[in-house]
Amino acid sequence: MNELITNLHMHTLYSDGSGTHQQLAKAALKQNIDVLLVTDHNLLVENINGYYKKDRHKLLLLTGEEIHDKSRIPPKNHLLVFGAEKELCTFADHTQNLINQVKRYNGLSFLAHPFEEALPQVHEDDISWVDWEVTGFTGLELWNHLSELKTRSTNWFLLIFHIFFPYFFTVGPDSRTVQKWDQLTMNGRKVVAIGGSDAHALEIKKTFIKRIVFPYAYHFSVINTHLLTPTPLTGDLLTDKKMVYQALADGKAFIGNDLPAPTKGFRFNAQGTNQTAIMGESIVLQNGVTFQINLPEKCECNLIHNGKIVKTWNKQKICTYITKEPGVYRVEAYLNYLGRKRAWIFSNPIYVSQTHSGVL
Ligand SMILES: [Zn+2]
Ligand SMILES: [Zn+2]
Repeated sequence: MNELITNLHMHTLYSDGSGTHQQLAKAALKQNIDVLLVTDHNLLVENINGYYKKDRHKLLLLTGEEIHDKSRIPPKNHLLVFGAEKELCTFADHTQNLINQVKRYNGLSFLAHPFEEALPQVHEDDISWVDWEVTGFTGLELWNHLSELKTRSTNWFLLIFHIFFPYFFTVGPDSRTVQKWDQLTMNGRKVVAIGGSDAHALEIKKTFIKRIVFPYAYHFSVINTHLLTPTPLTGDLLTDKKMVYQALADGKAFIGNDLPAPTKGFRFNAQGTNQTAIMGESIVLQNGVTFQINLPEKCECNLIHNGKIVKTWNKQKICTYITKEPGVYRVEAYLNYLGRKRAWIFSNPIYVSQTHSGVL
C-alpha cells in the first residue's frame, strides 16, 4: 500500500484562521505533506481544490467544512464534513439530521474534538461533542492538536509556556475520547479515528506578547492522519479525491505524532486462514489470526483488544501476536521525547469477527 501523509482540520481567512489556502499549501509542502483537508467554520469554500508543487513533491488540497450550530451557546457539537461537495451548514441545528444529510450527499462526517476543556484565560468555551445519541457518522477526531493545548494549559503560566514552547504540550489523545471510541467499536460499530490540527495560526497581542499561535507549518509537523491508498496521487483530481475519501471512509489510516520521530512506514496487518486485513478492515477468526506490527523506530508498543492491553513490546520494530479471540484490535505506540513518554502512533482497528457475517 502507498501512504499519504494527510493534515486535516484547519481554518483560513474565510473563517477564523489567518492564512489563505495558498499559504497553507506552501507551508504544507515544506513539511512534505501529501494531502491537506481544509475545513472552515460553516463554509464550504468551492472551486479551490487542486494541486500545489515544490520540486518533485505534489500536494493535493481539498476543502470540506466544520459545521456547528451558531445559535447554540456555547457552540458545542462541531462536525467535520468531507466529500459532500455541498453546503450543509443550514442543517446545523439538528445534529442527527446533519449527519443524515452528509450521508445523503455521499460525504463523510467526523465528531470534532469530542472532549476538550474550556480555556478561560482567553475566553474559550468547552466546545465538546454532547449529542452522543447520534448514529451514522463515519468516525471521530481522536486527537486534536489545538484541543490538547486547551486541555493541558490549566493556568496562565502553562498557557504562555506552551505558546512559546509548543512541542511540550503534545502528550496524547484525550483519554475520554479514546474510551468513548473503544465503547463505540466494541458495540459493533466501525468508527474511524482521525487526528486533526485545528490550525488557525492566530496572532495574539498582549502587553508583552505578540506572536502567531501556532504557525500552520508547525501544525503540519505534529498530528497527521496517514492514509493507506492503492497508489500515490495520480494527478487526476477526481481519481485522487475518490481515493483519499475512500481511505478515510474505510479507516485505512493511522494517526501519527510526527514530532518526536517520523511515523511514516507504520503498519498493522492481520493474516487469517484464507484472508488478510489491514487497518479498518474485518477478518474472520477461523483457526486464529496473526497480527504483525511494523514500527519505524523501536518504541513501547501496545496491542489493545476491546479497550484493554493484551500485549506490550519494548524496543522492538517488528511485533507479532496470535489471537484466537474475536473483537476489536488496535495499536498504540509511545516514544520518550522531551523528558516524558508521549503517544506516537494510534492505529485504526482491525475487526476480528467470529463468522463471515461480521458479527464480533
Ligand atoms: Zn471546532
Ligand atoms: Zn476547528
